Amino acid sequence: MSTPLIAARAVSFGYDDRVVVDRLDLSVGVGEVVALLGPNGSGKSTLVKGLFGLVPRLGGTIEVEGKVGDASTHHARIGYVPQRHSLAQSVRSTVSEVVAAGRLPHRPWWQPATRSDRDLVARAIEAVGLSDRAHAEVSTLSGGQQRRVLIARALAGQPALLVMDEPTAGVDHASQVVLTEVLGRLAASGTAMLVVTHELDVLADVVTRIVCLDAGHIDFDGSPGAYAAHLADADHPHVHAGHHHDDDSTGGR
Ligand code: ADP
Repeated sequence: MSTPLIAARAVSFGYDDRVVVDRLDLSVGVGEVVALLGPNGSGKSTLVKGLFGLVPRLGGTIEVEGKVGDASTHHARIGYVPQRHSLAQSVRSTVSEVVAAGRLPHRPWWQPATRSDRDLVARAIEAVGLSDRAHAEVSTLSGGQQRRVLIARALAGQPALLVMDEPTAGVDHASQVVLTEVLGRLAASGTAMLVVTHELDVLADVVTRIVCLDAGHIDFDGSPGAYAAHLADADHPHVHAGHHHDDDSTGGR
């Protein structure tokens, strides 16, 4: 098996000595589209922020493509779309300016943007359907459009793995449609994804694996098909048990 894009081993994250994510193992490999599900407060955001060094790590190790270090030290390879990134500091910036920041990990800070940087920025903006707003200030965009700007910023970095925290939460229908298309195209082009979501629909046909968190632990990790069976078991334990009972009694006769 190839080296995982990201591998977290026995990682714990928390706040002020309160452990929220407890000695958890999670790897994402090339070609995987992983939906990270779980009830509110189960630690999904804390886990993805922790992978980027945005929450204190209380234990464990993180490797990106086999190299020790969290995703913030390898952010040329891993893109992050935060849940509620306040674009507040950037309200006076244009869409192009915000998205261009996605190229910064790829060149020394003193070097001006190249033609290829500018092309990648334009393509990322086009991919999220905002070409006609490229020179608009982000403050003039809707919440859903601002979310698309953040995704374009991550795309401009051409990440091998894109980590997204609830990309469709609270966005308008038009943005939701665009996001579903974008995620589909990314998956088809081989970009791996780790997506926190309550709305499995957005990952439509592209999800290859489902991981469920509960109180900071993984309580399910498997294929979408296995997840459906897991849900059926959880919803109807008596039916499941009954089948076994019937089988047993049939066999006994
Ligand atoms: P989820 O994304 O699954 O809803 P979170 O990771 O946001 O879960 O939250 C997990 C737990 O961590 C919750 O109990 C929440 O109150 C707590 N928590 C989240 N952010 C902070 C923070 N900045 N400071 C202290 N506790 C936090």
